[in-house]
Amino acid sequence: MAINLNLLLYIEPQKDPSEKPIIDKLTKRMVAAFRKAKRGVIEYDSCKDGKPFKGFHETFGAGWRGPHTCSCGAQSHCNDYLLPNGEVTNSLCVHYLVYHRDEISEIQLVRVNNLNCGEEDPNEEELNHPKIKEEIKKHNRIASRQKYKEMFETIKS
Ligand SMILES: [Zn+2]
Repeated sequence: MAINLNLLLYIEPQKDPSEKPIIDKLTKRMVAAFRKAKRGVIEYDSCKDGKPFKGFHETFGAGWRGPHTCSCGAQSHCNDYLLPNGEVTNSLCVHYLVYHRDEISEIQLVRVNNLNCGEEDPNEEELNHPKIKEEIKKHNRIASRQKYKEMFETIKS
C-alpha cells in the first residue's frame, strides 16, 4: 500500500518479508543514490492528493515525523532523503526493495531504475533485516508456552 505516490517508496507492506533478500540492479541503484542523498524533512502535507512535493529542509539530527515502522518490524530514521535526481525517499527504501519487492508498484520500480548514481552493494544497516519481528514471534511463542504450562499446572492441582 502506497502512502504517497509522489514520493519514492513510501509504502506500507502488508505481507511478510520475503525469505530470500533480493539484491539486484534495482537494489544496488537505490543504494548508490541513497548514499548521495541529503537528509532533511519535507513539508509532508504539501504533497498529498497528487500534488508535487515542495519544501525540503535540511536538518541535523532528528526530523519531526518520528520513525516509521515497517510491518516486519524494521524501523526508519526520522527523516526524509532528497536524492540527487530530485526524488524524495526514506531510509527504508533499500529494505523495501530487498524484502518487500512484490508490494512495490511497477511505476515505482521504473523510477528506481531511472536513478543514475551507479550501483553499490547494501550494507547491514541499509538492509535493515526484519529480525525484530522474528524476535517478537519468538518472544510470543515462549510467552504462550509459559502461559499454557501455567494453565496446565493449575488444572492438575
Ligand atoms: Zn519490512
